[in-house]
Amino acid sequence: MLTSRFEPHDADFCFASIHGLTDNERHNFATRWLLEWLKFQVGYLGARGVVVFDIDDTLMDNEGAPIDSVLRIYDLAKTLGLHRAIVTARPETIDNRQYTVESLKEIGVNHWESLYMMPESRDITTESVSSYKREARDDIETRHRIIANIGDMWHDLVQMPLHHSTRCLEQMSDDACCILFPPMSHGEVALKLVSRARERAHIKMMSQKSKGEVNKPHGDK
Ligand SMILES: [Mg+2]
Repeated sequence: MLTSRFEPHDADFCFASIHGLTDNERHNFATRWLLEWLKFQVGYLGARGVVVFDIDDTLMDNEGAPIDSVLRIYDLAKTLGLHRAIVTARPETIDNRQYTVESLKEIGVNHWESLYMMPESRDITTESVSSYKREARDDIETRHRIIANIGDMWHDLVQMPLHHSTRCLEQMSDDACCILFPPMSHGEVALKLVSRARERAHIKMMSQKSKGEVNKPHGDK
């Protein structure tokens, strides 16, 4: 029985959230939809271009294990003759790039068109990461049309802070799973996957609390 479903939202752009009983159910529904959408775009419409992927909680989980459903999208893009680009907020250092390349190859991700890592000099605020990711996508777009963009965080997909057209996304939680064609994008579909970042931060905080290791806020001496 199919228990997941799309729920449309009143927005001035195309936007549907996915409802299902569990995170996995919503995630699988979203990724299956994108597989079919890519086949349609390339097979029937003759689309050519690139699919952009985030890494953490998108291509791999926080243990470095592959997220198979997203890897299927990566492999299908390759089979369909689409380029694959990777945009991560992991900081750009020689060691970190080498480690990231090795861990991607370990899970079977290879032959990407480009791998963007965030300059170390940039802040790790949502706005800064969002700007960096947007600039990376703009740069990719100078070479290839972006067909789809996949990530687990809103800033993987839309420019933060949200402007009036996308402000309705503020009502969505981080663990929402959505399909959208955001305004001011390159015309691509954007797939928002379930984010485990908040859940992980909560677990880390609880385990630190139990050990009495919670960091004091900055400026609290
Ligand atoms: Mg991520």
